[in-house]
Amino acid sequence: VWGRVKNVCKQNGLLILSVLAVVIGCLLGFFLRGKQLSEQEVKYFQFPGELLMRMLKMLILPLVVSSLMSGLAALDAKCSSRLGIMTISYYLWTTFVAVVVGIVMVSIIHPGGAAQKEDSEDSGKPIMRTLFPSFPYRTQSIPVPRPKPTVAQLLDETTTRRVFIYGIQDDNGTDIQNFSLDLTPPPDVIMRTSPGTSEGMNVLGIVIFSATMGIMLGRMGPNGSALVNFCQSLNEAVLKIVAIVIWYFPFGIVFLVAGKILEMDDPSAMGKKLGFYAITVVMGLVLHGLFILPAMYFFITKKSPIVYIRGILQALLISLATSSSSATLPITFKCLLENNHIDRRIIRFVLPVGATINMDGTALYEAVAAIFIAQVNNYELDFGQIITISITATAASIGAAGIPQAGLVTMVIVLTSVGLPTDDITLIIAVDWALDRFRTMVNVMGDALATGIMAHICRKDFVKEGEQVRVPLICE
Ligand code: ASP
Repeated sequence: VWGRVKNVCKQNGLLILSVLAVVIGCLLGFFLRGKQLSEQEVKYFQFPGELLMRMLKMLILPLVVSSLMSGLAALDAKCSSRLGIMTISYYLWTTFVAVVVGIVMVSIIHPGGAAQKEDSEDSGKPIMRTLFPSFPYRTQSIPVPRPKPTVAQLLDETTTRRVFIYGIQDDNGTDIQNFSLDLTPPPDVIMRTSPGTSEGMNVLGIVIFSATMGIMLGRMGPNGSALVNFCQSLNEAVLKIVAIVIWYFPFGIVFLVAGKILEMDDPSAMGKKLGFYAITVVMGLVLHGLFILPAMYFFITKKSPIVYIRGILQALLISLATSSSSATLPITFKCLLENNHIDRRIIRFVLPVGATINMDGTALYEAVAAIFIAQVNNYELDFGQIITISITATAASIGAAGIPQAGLVTMVIVLTSVGLPTDDITLIIAVDWALDRFRTMVNVMGDALATGIMAHICRKDFVKEGEQVRVPLICE
């Protein structure tokens, strides 16, 4: 038995250390909360965790650019567009499913009105009424105005420093404009995205820039091979760096987790409704991340999702610790390549695109949060408004950057679309840092499972890796 234990520890050493790191981080954080550290001391304490975030962020830009450029250049134009359409359709589909799960959960649990609901005559109503309590049954009421900080103030205090925001500056409906501008790469691609400024990185713009370059390089044939080779080398070098810095993770995670616990608001101050809201989001995430997505993987590939998920556990832990799917990207890449043995050409395309636009967890949470805010305000949403929420929650999750609490900010889009008070984001901010971790895990899980699914669908059309031929992909 001892021999087997030793073997397991040897094979999963890093994973075990990372799990321990999360546990130690939590214990240490709660222990030090009682010690009343000064702000400066907390900052020093958070330094090793901040270093981990920096290391991960440093790798995002070279990884995304080199993956997409070399990945797409290896496929011919027709094939890359087929893979692109399939991947993006799958991503949109799973995001939509996540939103529906969120809407159903929040309608059943009804966290915003939990207290009233218990003693109302509404209990025991028919299933349709439970699922869509507002549909034709009640009349619309006006949101209750409440004295709270404005969105601008809130964002100023909390997230503007860290989040890339669409149209928040002036609340005047410039979201779509700014979003479309971000689809095109910034003129100063390198400057805007250098590691030092990675917190404001426009990853979506970079993905589009790199994908376009990759497709063009593929069309250029031998003339583009110098740059393609460069990107391939860059890609491999990034993975080699990941293999080294990965050993710093357990240490960094302890301080990252403990540092966050030191900062958090007093959980006992959390109201009953907020507690129900958090439970609703977590239950929705569990349902989507642990049942629906793995079931889709199983039905399409006929392979065990448990084995697949075991291969990406390290990435899931990192996403839990960092709350950032972009920062987790290098680890997800490594896990899929080395543990799950997915073809690197598929990973290079599907994963960076997923980390940028596919955020099932975020979409689910946006839908729940918007409807929760409506419930708290006694604002009855009609069926059309629920549809609007599902569409805007999908769009807001696509627009959210893969960084901590980006979803909280893009939620302004969802609230504005149905006329809910955007200032009410303050209602959920107390628990957002925690929910962010879980939704980021689901985001990462969604991307990783999608990569496995795409690799399965395309498996017959790929020649063995290493063969220097243009690969016909699912196009014959
Ligand atoms: N933190 C999430 C991510 O990086 C985005 C969000 O929902 O805030 O995927």
